[in-house]
Amino acid sequence: MFKTKELKRKNELRWHRENIVRNRKRYAYNARKRRKEYPEKYRAIDEKYRDKTRQKVMNKVRWAIKTGKITKPMYCSCCGEIRKLNGHHKDYSKPLEVLWLCCACHKFLHTYISPKQKRR
Ligand SMILES: [Zn+2]
Ligand SMILES: [Zn+2]
Repeated sequence: MFKTKELKRKNELRWHRENIVRNRKRYAYNARKRRKEYPEKYRAIDEKYRDKTRQKVMNKVRWAIKTGKITKPMYCSCCGEIRKLNGHHKDYSKPLEVLWLCCACHKFLHTYISPKQKRR
């Protein structure tokens, strides 16, 4: 009884693992396909992630939070809602001057207040 149960569990686990690999492959395939279909859309995303300055600044902010140099608030600095917050930088040369905004306020800021500024 014990042995078959154990075996069953092992089989299930293996099936599960294979499924993850299969899904991952399919996901990667779909992503490649989408990239070919909408190169414009992906170029912007690529640029965003390839932007080394942005990455460096983000790392600095993360480090500053970890070491207690700055604190990430619970609330959006603009609307005061408790939401997932994005750090907004007015100036990347001052990485620790971060404005913490929720997604909606961040979008609003970039669309209406400083539309010329690249989204940061
Ligand atoms: Zn907000
Ligand atoms: Zn921003």
